[in-house]
Parts: sequence; structure tokens; C-alpha cells
Amino acid sequence: MSGGMKPIPHGTRNGYSHYGCRCDECSEANSEWRKAQRARWRAAGCAPGKAPPRSTAVPHGTISGYTYWNCRCEPCARAMRADTAKRQAANNAEALQKASRHGREWTVPEMEVASRADLTARQAAELLGRSVYSVQNMRVAMKRVDAPGGAGEAQEARQ
Ligand SMILES: [Zn+2]
Ligand SMILES: [Zn+2]
Repeated sequence: MSGGMKPIPHGTRNGYSHYGCRCDECSEANSEWRKAQRARWRAAGCAPGKAPPRSTAVPHGTISGYTYWNCRCEPCARAMRADTAKRQAANNAEALQKASRHGREWTVPEMEVASRADLTARQAAELLGRSVYSVQNMRVAMKRVDAPGGAGEAQEARQ
């Protein structure tokens, strides 16, 4: 664990829960996430307000089990701990990427999530583990690609 300076990812649930930030953006992201989580639990057949039992479709022993499903069983907690160190390194890299337009390569399923109209850029970013910034960029880029004539250089067209 190297205690480098990490920017708080405002507007994400991570900013709220992991960094303890209580700014408007982070609080909103957190309450949105909780709402979505309750829906997920309901969809998985859990008792209202209760974490998923081991018998559900929750991928136990994965980070997704811990964060996405908020499961706190031992395998999920272990997966989360293992991932935290990796993430800290990745966060530093992402902070650098934010400064430029270059990010990790996008996969097709990721682009589909990013383009979902029922998700805000923030929600999509959280699902994808990407920055809101990169999702917004991708949304703009996909609009360009949709247009016949292809994705050229294009000027900065901000709404
Ligand atoms: Zn914040
Ligand atoms: Zn679990």
C-alpha cells in the first residue's frame, strides 16, 4: 500500500463509500446505487433489504459479488481485498488517462452499456468501472461514428 495522492472520484458511489466524501454528487451517486441495488436484490429473489443468500445467482468470491451485490460473505470479502491493491495502482493510471483522451480499449459490450439510454453517464461509468469522463467521451464518440461519413477528426461539439 503506497500512500500516493489519489483524487476522489466525485459523483461515484466509490467516492461516497470508499473515500467517505459527502458532497452532493457523491451522495446522489450513492443513493442512486442503493436504489439500483435494491432492485437487483429483488430480481435475484432476495428478501427486501437483505443481502443475497448463497443460493442466488450472486457470483460469490468475486469483486462483483462484493461491490455490485453488496454481499459480505467471506469469499466475496477476500476477492475484494485482493482487488483493492490492484485497483489502487489502476486508479493512478486512470488519473493519468483522464488527462488525455486515451483510455483502456473499449469492448463492444462495454460500448453497449455506455450507450444505454436508461443509464446516466455516471451509472454507466459505475457499472463499467470507468470514469464518468470516459463514458461521456465514448457517448460523444459513438454519436460521431453513427453518422454516415465516418468518424473524422470532428471539432469539439459540446451539446
Ligand atoms: Zn464527492
Ligand atoms: Zn458472497
